[in-house]
Amino acid sequence: MSVLLLSHRACLLHEPGEHHPECPDRLRAVLRALDAEEFADLIRDEAPEATIAQLCRVHPRHYVDAILAVRPPEGETLGLDGDTIMSHGSAEAALRAAGAGVAAVDAVCRGEVRRAFCAVRPPGHHAEPGIPMGFCLFSNAVVAARHAQHAHGVMRVAILDFDVHHGNGTQACVVDDPTIFYASTHQSPLYPGTGARSERGLGNVLNVPLPPGADGNAFRDAWLSEILPALAAFEPGLVIISAGFDAHARDPLAQLRLREADFGWLTEQLCAVAERFCGGRVVSLLEGGYDLEALALSAAAHVRALLRA
Ligand SMILES: [Zn+2]
Repeated sequence: MSVLLLSHRACLLHEPGEHHPECPDRLRAVLRALDAEEFADLIRDEAPEATIAQLCRVHPRHYVDAILAVRPPEGETLGLDGDTIMSHGSAEAALRAAGAGVAAVDAVCRGEVRRAFCAVRPPGHHAEPGIPMGFCLFSNAVVAARHAQHAHGVMRVAILDFDVHHGNGTQACVVDDPTIFYASTHQSPLYPGTGARSERGLGNVLNVPLPPGADGNAFRDAWLSEILPALAAFEPGLVIISAGFDAHARDPLAQLRLREADFGWLTEQLCAVAERFCGGRVVSLLEGGYDLEALALSAAAHVRALLRA
């Protein structure tokens, strides 16, 4: 079954600094893993830049303009906060990262492919409407969701986030909008400190925090007993995945104990829900994951499941 892989070399030119965990080598590791023979059937394409209008469905115009105006000289960086840092190539990388989600939605909603994976950076789920945060500049997943609604008439979009950090930005973008369902498993306590069970939005937000040390069994149980039933009750017209792989046991930024098989399992579950409600339409966007080998293995397990589903 056809699966689209979108990326762009510009996403390698976002360089937040030598010792920054969100480094270009992350994307190189993912793309190298997806070069294996078993992924030969992926349809590969370059991610376009998102347009200003597409970004402004989520972010205020002044915010979009301010981010795109940041262009330090080659070799220099500018910190927007302690860990969200822009380099010369960051603005284009951010446009391509958001544009990948838009193009993936177009391809899936037009029926050109069943599913799509966007191997892009910077990630997006910490970016709030008006605040860059946690390595993120634009809310890639919500830009994609809004595009599905506006350009393709999809009524209800679900965003499922299994990154080890809570997607405070995604949540902030959709908290007052019952047409978008946002659900997340994440470690708590951990950055950014949001994502309590009590944060329910208008009933369209579901947070299931997991304690440090939780393993794949706890993770699978959270999805099976809580999120997947709520997702089915929402009856999504499109499934968007915020695919962060930093809940892996080897990740240096968190303390959950998942293995790559757990990501493959959840991907299959989400594809099954998409099959039931929306013709199998799934768009997945890379978020975190900071141990290069674990990231590569986990992303491969994720895309393998997208191909198999
Ligand atoms: Zn993360």
